[in-house]
Amino acid sequence: MIEITGVHKSFGKAHVLRGVSLSAKAGTVTVVLGPSGSGKSTLLRCINHLEKVDSGRVRVDGELIGYRQAGNRLHELSERQILRQRAGIGFVFQNFNLFPHLTAVENIAEAPISAQGRPRAQVYERARELLTSVGLGDRADAYPRQLSGGQQQRVAIARALALEPKLILFDEPTSALDPELVGEVLDVLRDLAAGGTTMIVVTHEIGFAREAADTVVFMDEGRIVEQGAPAQVLDHPRHERTRAFLSKVL
Ligand code: ATP
Ligand code: MG
Repeated sequence: MIEITGVHKSFGKAHVLRGVSLSAKAGTVTVVLGPSGSGKSTLLRCINHLEKVDSGRVRVDGELIGYRQAGNRLHELSERQILRQRAGIGFVFQNFNLFPHLTAVENIAEAPISAQGRPRAQVYERARELLTSVGLGDRADAYPRQLSGGQQQRVAIARALALEPKLILFDEPTSALDPELVGEVLDVLRDLAAGGTTMIVVTHEIGFAREAADTVVFMDEGRIVEQGAPAQVLDHPRHERTRAFLSKVL
């Protein structure tokens, strides 16, 4: 489903990803942990080609992301082809990033109509269903400023789902929320996990990792230090750096 092999990425002199390889099967949840600056966001951004890798490959459902291979050479895809690939990979950010001038339902319907050219009535019907599935069936016509952070994040998740992505990437989806609003967003993530959505989730919510993850990955200084089942990585970490990190967040 997703296969990352030997990815390197530098920004100037900063070698941020130092040979990251990771694979995940369809329907699985991968939780990525690691200290600030370890490269978690950069890794997610490389998966949908928001950042170009310096070397290595990312494949989703066997399809090379960002490039076309001809013999030994890689050619970057056109902007249009990149946008098409990106539409198949949902991305939910820390700060929701809803369009402020559109209502909840309009935020969800925008891309399926404008980018995928799907019929308006059908898209709106589906958008309302998605709002109901994240517990916001009665807030379809609210603007982002009229919603709490947790509600805005649930709209953002519904918006990602509206494109029927193969995979959804979450970058610290609860870290901008007041503590009492974290639970409602994690409940939505748990529902998605149980429903078989393929997800890669960067989060410090260890409880969520324990319950919902198939694989927990610990990154440090641009490398995957350790990965495995939650019980193994969280309760019996093999590496000192994983232990030191967990002792701070648990
Ligand atoms: P956090 O937990 O704080 O979100 P992270 O693990 O997500 O951290 P990244 O955001 O991937 O870390 O950043 C890794 C390193 O790459 C940091 O040192 C950061 O300053 C650097 N970096 C990230 N994006 C850029 C950029 N566009 N230009 C220059 N440096 C960058
Ligand atoms: Mg980050």
